[in-house]
Amino acid sequence: MSTTTTEIARFTYVRPTDLAAAVAAGAAAGPGGRYWAGGTDLMLEWQRKQRPIETSIDITGLTELRGILIDPSEIRIGALTTLAEIERSAALHPDLESLAAIAAVMCTPQTRTLATVAGNLCNASPAADLAPPLIVLGARIATATSDGGRELELEDLFTAPKQTVLTDGELLTHITIPLSGQRAASYGRIARTVVDIALTLSACSLTLDQQGTVSAARIAFGSVAPTPLRALSGEQLLLGKTLAELTPALLAEAAAAAAGDANPIDDIRTSAAYRRHTVRVLTQRALAKTVARLSRGGDQ
Ligand SMILES: Cc1cc2nc3c(=O)[nH]c(=O)nc-3n(C[C@H](O)[C@H](O)[C@H](O)COP(=O)(O)OP(=O)(O)OC[C@H]3O[C@@H](n4cnc5c(N)ncnc54)[C@H](O)[C@@H]3O)c2cc1C
Repeated sequence: MSTTTTEIARFTYVRPTDLAAAVAAGAAAGPGGRYWAGGTDLMLEWQRKQRPIETSIDITGLTELRGILIDPSEIRIGALTTLAEIERSAALHPDLESLAAIAAVMCTPQTRTLATVAGNLCNASPAADLAPPLIVLGARIATATSDGGRELELEDLFTAPKQTVLTDGELLTHITIPLSGQRAASYGRIARTVVDIALTLSACSLTLDQQGTVSAARIAFGSVAPTPLRALSGEQLLLGKTLAELTPALLAEAAAAAAGDANPIDDIRTSAAYRRHTVRVLTQRALAKTVARLSRGGDQ
């Protein structure tokens, strides 16, 4: 009988009990340090030896980074809020409905109880499902480091597959969604199986001002570019329009313009041509759903 020996890559394990200790540990660990949230992406990287982990900083005990808070001006989502909690959040605020619906089709129910929102974003997969629906809600992220922290637009977080602007030891603490105007959001997503990552994802939101014209339009894609992508070209066509002017023909034109911003690749899951086609179709449908929701009174 033959046996297989697997070499386990060893790392130093640190379990801070508060945020200050966590970012101090992150700073001390340098480039080999990695925050361990749900571990659902990190575990695979560790097993596959994709990226070395010299120090694992277990942040699961930082309870101040958990949960969703809503006040009149914003929704605040803690970094360690799990996908299962996001999935159950639709009743908390209408702006959370499309985010909750996407969380419900991610991973498996068991994985969703571990996986966190910050882990999904900081892992920086082009297919990170929570990125497009958060980008279209105008989400910002807040970070902490041993000498301060900063706030930035979520869409500015991603630089390349698995790469972000975060510096060594910089920890994402929470995500904020500003609340303003009458807004509705929708999305479309295609995956091969219920546990697979998205082949294509498109999310959009429209906000009406008091005169009933579109004051903000946002479209964002997953799995069609090296990073989650905001599709600015399609948005321009929708700004300043009334609901009556958002005709199927205009939505089709906006979806086609948005799809032009995509830069998909062929990979083992599907072809670039399929992604380019479906992202246009999904965007057109998501825009139509969004207009229908606004016609019924919007999300708020
Ligand atoms: C079976 C399975 C199915 C999956 N299906 C999907 C899917 O359908 N859609 C999808 O998008 N993903 C999917 N994933 C990927 C994964 O589950 C998600 O990306 C998840 O949200 C990652 O969260 P986590 O807390 O487990 O991250 P972790 O694995 O703990 O961390 C991921 C990365 O983010 C960093 N990090 C974590 N938290 C922070 C923080 N607060 N500040 C700075 N850096 C941080 C870590 O250091 C690491 O580099 C799947 C994974 C599995 C195993």
